[in-house]
Order: sequence, then C-alpha cells, then structure tokens
Amino acid sequence: MKIPMIMTPGPTYIHEDVRRALSKEIINPDLDLNFYEFYKETCERFQQLLNTKNDVLILSGEGILGLEAACASLIEPGDRVLCIDNGIFGNGFGDFAKMYGGEVVYFKSDYRKAVNVEELKEFLKNDHNFKLATLVHCETPSGITNPVAEICPLLKDYEIISVVDSVSAIGGEELKTDDWKMDIVLGGSQKCLSAPPGLTFLSVSPDAWSRILNRKVPIAGFYCNLSIWKTWYQDKWFPYTQPVSDIYALREAVDRLLNDGKYVERHGMVAEAVRKSLVEAGLELYSVDGFSNTVTTVNIPKGISFKEIFEGMLEDHNIMIAGAFAFLKDKVFRIGHMGENCYDEKLYITLKALNSVFKKYNISLKGELHELFVKNMK
Ligand SMILES: *Cc1c(COP(=O)(O)O)cnc(C)c1O
Repeated sequence: MKIPMIMTPGPTYIHEDVRRALSKEIINPDLDLNFYEFYKETCERFQQLLNTKNDVLILSGEGILGLEAACASLIEPGDRVLCIDNGIFGNGFGDFAKMYGGEVVYFKSDYRKAVNVEELKEFLKNDHNFKLATLVHCETPSGITNPVAEICPLLKDYEIISVVDSVSAIGGEELKTDDWKMDIVLGGSQKCLSAPPGLTFLSVSPDAWSRILNRKVPIAGFYCNLSIWKTWYQDKWFPYTQPVSDIYALREAVDRLLNDGKYVERHGMVAEAVRKSLVEAGLELYSVDGFSNTVTTVNIPKGISFKEIFEGMLEDHNIMIAGAFAFLKDKVFRIGHMGENCYDEKLYITLKALNSVFKKYNISLKGELHELFVKNMK
C-alpha cells in the first residue's frame, strides 16, 4: 500500500519516535503500580499543555467520546444547555446535549466569522439560566478559532459550566484553561498531538466536578460517566483495562510537543504564511476572521472541482488534503497544518503540488503558491 503524506486536519503524521513507543512491550496496567505512576505523569504533562491545575482524564475513544462523556456526565433531563453555534461542530454539540435530555437553546453566530462576543454578552443579559454551555475552540471544517479567552469568563460570570471542544486546537493554539476559567476542555490524540487516533483527554474543573457528583438523576452509562474516574489514582484502580500502547504513544507525543516549547508560535507563523500565500495568489479563504492556526479552509475557485483537486494532489503528488462535509461539501478544500505537519518544508511541498494541480486545470494564479510561501515565511 502506498502511504500518502497526510496534510489533513487530523489524523496527522506520526513521528517515528511515537510509532516506536507504540511497539514497546506491554505490561499489565491493572496490576503494575509503575503504570499508575506513568499514567499520572502523563496526565500532568497535559496539565502543563493546558495550563491548568484541574484534573486531567484520558479516555479510550475518539475525541467524540470526550464530547459525549462531558454531556452525559453533566446533563440531567430538563437541564437548560446553551449551544454556542458558529459552525458544523458547534451545532452538532447541541445534538449530543439533546440525547441526554438537555433542553438546548442555540446562540447562533455568523458561520464565516469567530463567535461575536458582544452579541453573546447581550444575549446572556436576557437569558442566562443555563447549567452548561457547549462551544468549539476551533471549528475544523471552516478553519475558524473562537475567542474562548473571552467567552469562558463571560459564562463563568453567570455560573454556567463551559464545555469546550478543543480537539483541533490543543497543541496548536494558545490555551490557558485556568486563567480563562474553562471548566471542561477536551482534545483528541490524532490532531495537533500527532499521536495515533483512539484517545481523548479532558480537563475537569472543581465546579464541573461538583455538578457531576451532585446530580439528582444518576448518570446513564458507564464509558461516558466521568465520575468513575474520580479516585483512580488513590484507589489504584482503573475502570477498565487501559490501552497501554496508545498511552505510551500519547506520552511520547505530548513530550515532543512540550519539548518543542514554541509550538504556538510555530503554528501561528506557518498558518499565517499559508493564508497570505493563498490570498496573494488570488484564492479566497472561507472564513473572513478568526483564522485558525491549525487548518486553512479555502473556497474552491471556478474551473476546478474538489474531486479534481483531491485526486490531482493524491495521484500526481501522493499528498492527501481534505474537503469538508455537510453544507461545505464540494465547496472548499482544507489544508491541515497541525502538530508534526506544521513545518515549513511540508507546507512548501504541499503548496507546490497544489500549484501544479491548479496549473494542470488552467486555473490562473497571481504568482506561484510555493514561492509566495517562501517569501511569507521570511
Ligand atoms: C476531529 C474533531 C473532533 C473529533 O472527531 P473524531 O471523529 O473523533 O475524530 C471533534 N471536534 C472537532 C472540532 C474536531 O476537529
């Protein structure tokens, strides 16, 4: 099987040190006390990454599991839930809240822009009786990063628990969980962490724990019940057998990111150069503000289809880029510049290939994409 270079917004390229960690010998995670220490240290690395003193949990399942577990553990039937919606993931969060009996109210904000904080402020003045609010840090399909630094403290003023899907932002965007008063922040292993898909991690604030542990109606379900994790370390007891290899790989990946130190700056710089190059060449970005530093979403120009871009990139250059789904299907293409993919060599190669695909279909560009990129990285 030919392995393409995956420049998609997750899963991302996995460094060989991380792949090597996957193949380390297995121990018994339930009986070997060393594993509890290793696991605890891994959670502490995530506290560092998220800038928090809050508990961090790692669950065996995709990013979606973190999102569903937060909803399942917090929401009791009839609870009012505010769904902050400026995109496909933001809107979909509301569906999870409904599954657990939440009475969902949507705050809608322009899908091509970051959430409008002033409008949210006005909205909350009139209606703020919510147990929790769901929001998305980076709307991956549209390539928009939301101002969680302003939104979460605002929610805290009304004692609304914030549940933030930061799956495609953690490790690529600045994140100050405690300073920004974020209650639950969740991520996934396969985006900026550049670890294999299959794990989700969440930080849970004392306020969120208090709501989870003081419910009237018990939590329905086991895998999505965060309270079963409250005392795993003290009791030296995991709710279920831990996926040792995945945790080894995740640990290696988080160490790589933390050792880098400058990952936020790196993502900022590369993302800006990608956007500038595309725009200077005459292409149009989907978003008009709140540009993400982990993924760029570009409107497909006239004269070429998504299929032609995707297949041209893959078949002629062995590079995989992404489209999007729902209402963005066939309207945009997306370049992921997350984690291990966020290095200038990789974006240079990707933009050079894209340039040649556009040429093949006679799409006129104002300048060569890869040359513009080199200029903009200076
Ligand atoms: C990738 C992603 C998820 C998780 O989706 P999976 O299907 O589990 O990979 C959730 N939220 C956002 C914003 C994402 O980008």
